[in-house]
Amino acid sequence: ATFDSLGLAEPLMRAVIVRNYPAPTPVQVAAIPAVLGGRDVWATAQTGSGKTAAFALPILQTLAAGRRERGRFVRALVLAPTRELAAQIGDSFRIYGRWLPEPIKILIVYGGVSINPQMMALGGGADIIIATPGRLLDLVDHNAVSLSAVQTLVLDEADRLFDLGFADELNRVLELLPAKRQNLLFSATFPPAVLALAAGMLRDPVRIEV
Ligand code: AMP
Repeated sequence: ATFDSLGLAEPLMRAVIVRNYPAPTPVQVAAIPAVLGGRDVWATAQTGSGKTAAFALPILQTLAAGRRERGRFVRALVLAPTRELAAQIGDSFRIYGRWLPEPIKILIVYGGVSINPQMMALGGGADIIIATPGRLLDLVDHNAVSLSAVQTLVLDEADRLFDLGFADELNRVLELLPAKRQNLLFSATFPPAVLALAAGMLRDPVRIEV
């Protein structure tokens, strides 16, 4: 397969070309058209599989098309288990979104650092938040962010979210989201807790195993 066949628009194609990616990885081949089509996704994917681009490219394309709400409401939320992963995902969104004709506001929030700069940064709204669950809830509790307009939720490395004890935080976040939304679940392994989450959350998902 080639990137040309996946339905990506020119600004995202340019990002892929600038990055010198020779061809899409298997998880990208399967996930990019599914995400662009609004489907839920259930993907078994390891680090190094290219999973970040598999969700970041189509999410950026979809958000860029929804012009009127730009910058004000959080429309995509990515939850990651660690600060390092959140920062890495956020960097990828920024790199892939660089060629969009109008900028998409991307915020990365995680614990272990002062909350005030994150609250300030959220002041003007954001299109995409990449967060660790605990800090995201702190920001919600400070009324610094509303999750009521989220259209797409990504859980990345979902098994590690549970391994690191985020089950309660995760459930609290899920309750704050609109019931009608797109869900993308990426996990290297599917232990019972992740299977239960998938069964409860995903609607007719596209299953991807690479
Ligand atoms: P990930 O699995 O998302 O952590 O990505 C692992 C690495 O693969 C990152 O450094 C990406 O920049 C790189 N990558 C993502 N997609 C491709 C691709 N289609 N071809 C080559 N490298 C890629």
